Amino acid sequence: MTGSISQTIKLIQQKIPSKVKLIAITKQVGIEPMREAYGVGVRDFGENRLQEALDKQQQFEDLTDINWHFIGHIQKNKAKKIVENFEWIHSVDSLVLAKRLNRLAQESNLTPKVFLQVKVLPDPNKYGWEAEELIGDLAELDRYQNLKIKGLMTILPLGLSPEETLSAFEATAKLAAQIQQRGYENLPMKELSMGMSGDYLLAIAAGATMIRLGRTIFGSK
Ligand SMILES: *Cc1c(COP(=O)(O)O)cnc(C)c1O
Repeated sequence: MTGSISQTIKLIQQKIPSKVKLIAITKQVGIEPMREAYGVGVRDFGENRLQEALDKQQQFEDLTDINWHFIGHIQKNKAKKIVENFEWIHSVDSLVLAKRLNRLAQESNLTPKVFLQVKVLPDPNKYGWEAEELIGDLAELDRYQNLKIKGLMTILPLGLSPEETLSAFEATAKLAAQIQQRGYENLPMKELSMGMSGDYLLAIAAGATMIRLGRTIFGSK
């Protein structure tokens, strides 16, 4: 099957605007497929398990231009390693976690780029802020100077129609715009991390700047 991954990536790149960043989500994907993706220009890889990611980072030590993104829920005891080993963290899903990451970043003299994970539709199975809750936490988040807060990230609940999907992505973009209007210095909200294999075109239509694609590139695991 060699060649199919690079083919798929090229086709996706043709379909999406050049300013939208494709992050290859490589959880449970082996080194060879990742190298194939790298070979056609992918420089952003996303992982959701710390140990698996650290092992891969070691295997890719020779390639110094890769940006590593952490996309999974972060347990307390993993936070330090995640701050130390990822330049992007998409899954900052609570004030408590943000505070911890900020402190750890400060201690290590790092400034990771982060997304605040939100859910604009109620979803008991997902982490993240609901809109009103997040608005209430903004003033505090604005003080976390070691986190470069870039924007919002969302994962939609399963089973939505295309119309519902688009409207949920638009609601996320609108929430980002509302936050931006408040003028917090440390909350520029210019990026939107949203869109996965099944819904990335709708996410882009709603203003996504980063899409996170796994299965459509690497197949189902
Ligand atoms: C697995 C995962 C993705 C990729 O999902 P696909 O449906 O395989 O494209 C994107 N974002 C997060 C947070 C994930 O856990």
